[in-house]
Amino acid sequence: MGALKLIINGAKGRMGQALIHCAEADPDLIVSAALDHGDDLAAALSGCDAVIDFTHAEVTLGVAEACAKAGKALVIGTTGHSDAVRTRITELSKVIPIVFAPNFSVGVNTLFWLTRKAAEILGPDFDLEVVEMHHRLKKDSPSGTARRLVEILAEVRGLSYDSDVRHGREGMVGERTPTEIGLHAVRGGDVVGDHTVIYANVGERVELTHKASSRDTFAKGALRAAKWAHGRDPGLYDMQDVLGLTD
Ligand code: NAD
Repeated sequence: MGALKLIINGAKGRMGQALIHCAEADPDLIVSAALDHGDDLAAALSGCDAVIDFTHAEVTLGVAEACAKAGKALVIGTTGHSDAVRTRITELSKVIPIVFAPNFSVGVNTLFWLTRKAAEILGPDFDLEVVEMHHRLKKDSPSGTARRLVEILAEVRGLSYDSDVRHGREGMVGERTPTEIGLHAVRGGDVVGDHTVIYANVGERVELTHKASSRDTFAKGALRAAKWAHGRDPGLYDMQDVLGLTD
């Protein structure tokens, strides 16, 4: 089998540059088109095997629709989508394989796994809070990774992201309730991505932390996901599926 031909969408961005640099170092990959704002994705699709999208939240749906029309596998790294866009992406995954992950690093996917296990072991007496920090240029908040961490905690506790998450606290907010999950977004400098899950009880506290120091970790994971997705049955997958971390 020849090298996998990839379109990198968002090629001029921070992640796009990391993807191109990592793909060029991989003999099993060819970047058939490096596209950014204003380029013609539909015209480039016939010459590729798979598309990787790291752009902006409002761009992804059009990319997914074009990939579904052309029958190409899609890897989505972009974060910050509305629920309506996420639902439409799920529908399109009936037509093509889509790997949609808020974080492609092996370390963060291990953190996802550990977060679930720790929540199961520690039980409902522990208060749950998630803190994330990213560089000053990040546009969406909270990070997609922090959202996923809260979703995992909510799943274990039988709570819901929409009604039980508490985004920061200000003023006379009253005592913390046992069912709220706090989520706090910190912005500054050039931080690539830090996430901490806090389990706090009276007398003890557990903290699970991941710190990314290079975008190459996300880029290599997304490239691995593209290889994994190519030729696979249609479906909505995440990086846990790619890494075989699903139980
Ligand atoms: P960035 O702003 O540096 O890059 C985005 C790029 O997309 C820009 O070059 C922009 O011109 C381009 N773009 C905008 N509209 C476009 C269009 N219509 N078609 C093609 N390209 C278009 O952002 P970034 O730091 O590279 O992050 C991109 C996205 O990836 C963000 O949503 C971020 O949260 C997410 N991200 C995900 C992971 C992960 O592992 N899943 C890791 C890091 C960042």
